[in-house]
Amino acid sequence: MPNNAGSAASGILTEKEVKEMISQLGVKATNCHEAFSLDEVLSLAENTGFPVVLKVNSLKITHKSDIGGVRLNLGSKAEVKEAYQQIMARSLPLDPGATVTVQRMAKPGLEVIVGMTTTPQFGRVVMFGLGGIYAELLKDTSFSLVPVTRSAAEDMVRSINGRKLLQGFRGGPAADQEAIIAIIEAVSALCEKHPKITELDLNPVIVYERGAVVVDARAAVIQEI
Ligand code: ADP
Ligand code: MG
Repeated sequence: MPNNAGSAASGILTEKEVKEMISQLGVKATNCHEAFSLDEVLSLAENTGFPVVLKVNSLKITHKSDIGGVRLNLGSKAEVKEAYQQIMARSLPLDPGATVTVQRMAKPGLEVIVGMTTTPQFGRVVMFGLGGIYAELLKDTSFSLVPVTRSAAEDMVRSINGRKLLQGFRGGPAADQEAIIAIIEAVSALCEKHPKITELDLNPVIVYERGAVVVDARAAVIQEI
């Protein structure tokens, strides 16, 4: 866990923090670079390479798109400047300490969710499901207790109703199931390593024919008072 008492006390770990933790376990993520001024945003965007993504970075704003805090596919400095000003205008009234992060734009693929939640009955449970409308409409998910073994992770991927989508439905590309299994194992390992994490969401993970990348993340931790 980042050595950041401010963060832990708030009960939330940001996208940037969770991506750094999961990256250390070998999972690919579009890592966030935090900027504190327009100049910094512009130079980070240039260093990252266009197109880039700008997102609000705040412990108080956990659903970033709800407030217009995510701007995708920004192709030039002018677009980045406009997006930065808009995100800050919307975020600062909600959190005067809000900043933005710059990250690379990932290519389209199949969006899935890997998460962890704490249940009163079973304790910590890892969840896998398809993302986007599949998640909201169909609630098509599979679960396994922490620690998740390799074979339990394989079962989680195989047991969702929409598994045909992973196999390449109607000529669509197949999704790399090995990469998903590795991410499920990494989430389980991260939770074992950090008993104070009570919830974790990688939402979405974009899966390709080869490989997968985490593009959004958040976590909740037990509050330290
Ligand atoms: P929220 O906090 O609202 O969940 P996200 O970071 O998940 O915000 O961004 C919203 C959507 O934007 C994601 O579901 C994904 O489809 C897309 N997205 C976010 N980051 C990237 C990225 N780096 N590359 C490509 N698409 C992205
Ligand atoms: Mg998200």
